[in-house]
Amino acid sequence: LKDEVNKMERLSLVGQMAASITHEIRNPMAVIRGFVQLLNERSPSEHQSYFRIVLDELDRANAIINDFLSLAQNRIVEKEPSNLNELLNDLLPLIWADANLRGQMIELRLGEGMENLEMNSKEVKQLVLNLARNGMEAMSDKGVLRIETLDFEDTVQLRVTDNGVGIPPEKLERLFEPFYTTKTNGTGLGLALCLSIVERHNGKIHVESTVGQGTTFVVSFYKPGSMISDVRKHG
Ligand code: ADP
Ligand code: MG
Repeated sequence: LKDEVNKMERLSLVGQMAASITHEIRNPMAVIRGFVQLLNERSPSEHQSYFRIVLDELDRANAIINDFLSLAQNRIVEKEPSNLNELLNDLLPLIWADANLRGQMIELRLGEGMENLEMNSKEVKQLVLNLARNGMEAMSDKGVLRIETLDFEDTVQLRVTDNGVGIPPEKLERLFEPFYTTKTNGTGLGLALCLSIVERHNGKIHVESTVGQGTTFVVSFYKPGSMISDVRKHG
């Protein structure tokens, strides 16, 4: 019976997800259809701005599909002993290029003891990239994004801090919900994906934010051999 209930729950969850993604993809599709129709009717002088909108909306639909796929593929990921600092160094050129385009700065502070952590490096890179992008999107062109690793008791922490707009308290609890976004071009799937990656690594993620001052996302990973890491592995 318990299995049957679980199966029903899973099916209804799949149904809800399908309904959400259908809704999310229909929006850009409707906009694209409308503007292609206009392109057909209006003079070529008006075409350029319509093409821009059509391309933006195609990109958005594509981003929703890609993010949703990463989220839905709740696969068992292979982990291997990894060095979190090396992983950040690998990512730095990508993040730096993005920040540079926006006129923002990146500050990297790497702590000790980041080697031999059981991680799937592809997933952890995705996690850092999503947090970094959100941070950059929350800041003006004078923003500074700080990415740091630190050794804290039986965990290692990854902290991503921006000095951007901040998040009002009433919004904090919705951040990790799939499709929750306050951006016109957001998918609302970035943080949902972050949370599922952190959970697959038996970690924790939390947010500290002050409106008008900025936001820090803190990810804690348990060190191998720490009590909680062992309990979690076996329980
Ligand atoms: P998206 O970036 O596509 O909107 P996310 O899941 O990445 O979706 O983020 C959800 C929402 O959380 C954002 O729309 C934004 O309102 C809020 N948010 C996330 N990170 C930050 C941040 N660093 N500063 C301010 N708001 C943030
Ligand atoms: Mg995002």
